[in-house]
Amino acid sequence: MTSEFLEDENHDADLLQQLVEIEGFEDDLEMLEAHMPDSMCPGICVTPGCGYSNEVVGDETEGWCEECQKGTVKSAMILAGII
Ligand SMILES: [Zn+2]
Repeated sequence: MTSEFLEDENHDADLLQQLVEIEGFEDDLEMLEAHMPDSMCPGICVTPGCGYSNEVVGDETEGWCEECQKGTVKSAMILAGII
């Protein structure tokens, strides 16, 4: 269980880094500071290899992915563990 949890944490960090690159920020802190938790912020699909990103509400955990046709988009705030 513990190792699965850690892998999931690392996956979130990887996705957050992907979003930073997509959005063109220097690092995740800069990106998160540019978006308040109660407003829209970048989100990314959690399906490995998908990489679909979209603007979502700050606490989004099941945003719609156009590629997967599923609710798999999480916001940067969620990925960073801020919310
Ligand atoms: Zn997807």
